[in-house]
Amino acid sequence: MSGAAGPAMSAAGPSQGANRSPSGGSAAANAASVGAVLGASIEGRGITKRFPGRHKTFTAIEDVTFTINAGEFVSLIGPSGCGKSTLMLIAAGLTLPTEGEIIVGGRRLEAPITDVGIVFQDHLLLDFRTAIDNILLQHQVRGLPLDKGREDTLALMQKIGIAHASDRYPRQLSGGMRQRVSIARALIHQPSLLLMDEPLGALDAITRTQIRHDLELLWLETRKTVLFITHSVEEAVGLSDRVLVMSPNPGRIVEEIVIDLPRPRPAHLGEYPTFNAYAERIHDAFRRLGVIKY
Ligand code: ADP
Ligand code: MG
Repeated sequence: MSGAAGPAMSAAGPSQGANRSPSGGSAAANAASVGAVLGASIEGRGITKRFPGRHKTFTAIEDVTFTINAGEFVSLIGPSGCGKSTLMLIAAGLTLPTEGEIIVGGRRLEAPITDVGIVFQDHLLLDFRTAIDNILLQHQVRGLPLDKGREDTLALMQKIGIAHASDRYPRQLSGGMRQRVSIARALIHQPSLLLMDEPLGALDAITRTQIRHDLELLWLETRKTVLFITHSVEEAVGLSDRVLVMSPNPGRIVEEIVIDLPRPRPAHLGEYPTFNAYAERIHDAFRRLGVIKY
């Protein structure tokens, strides 16, 4: 990904926001309110999520309150099973909280939002479509013009360093390239929000560092509101404006750490003496929570 601005990543793109409002407002009215201004905020108020079980109800997350400001990059870090993915699904309106509320762009969610890009740990590409056609799926699903879409997609693929592979099928791509395609698919419709659930988790360390850097440059250019889920301290500190630390089950936000490091951040974060201090604060929180015992 170069720093050059391309049409696909221009900051003030059209919004496809169309979440339904609790008051039953029209999709067009909601489109204007969710994400018409680049980078809608995400606010969770007293969110608890319970899942009914055969014998008893399981509380996955409990009383979680947080704000991610418009254009901010926030990581959520916590041990496996603490409820990170559940919270992300709630932020996308894909599942509703049992208690509390989630507010995106000033509107309480009652249904899935569309002004959002989501990247999962698994690339989830369709194996029978080429890289470019996987990205263009967004246009087809959303009913957006395909000719312009193809042009924008190629420009974005260029920026993300995968243009040369546009006609390859997922099986012909490396893990890192597949994940770049998924990132492009999440961004091509210029959403206000980017939700990423351990997007680099399955990659080797070198690829992870490179994509982390590329992602940071892309974010610097577009300033999406990002919720980035990870269990890597290095990724959290390397990418974020703020890190929210979650406790083991039931997941609660127990600490918030503002990461005041210049951007773009280097591959080797240890270049900053303060990096180690931030990393240590996260480790300390995990020690207090009994997540790490040394
Ligand atoms: P994380 O992403 O932090 O690893 P998850 O959000 O996936 O954690 O899950 C948190 C807890 O909630 C886990 O114990 C998981 O088994 C449980 N859980 C998640 N989704 C469901 C569901 N749909 N039904 C029942 N339990 C669930
Ligand atoms: Mg998860």
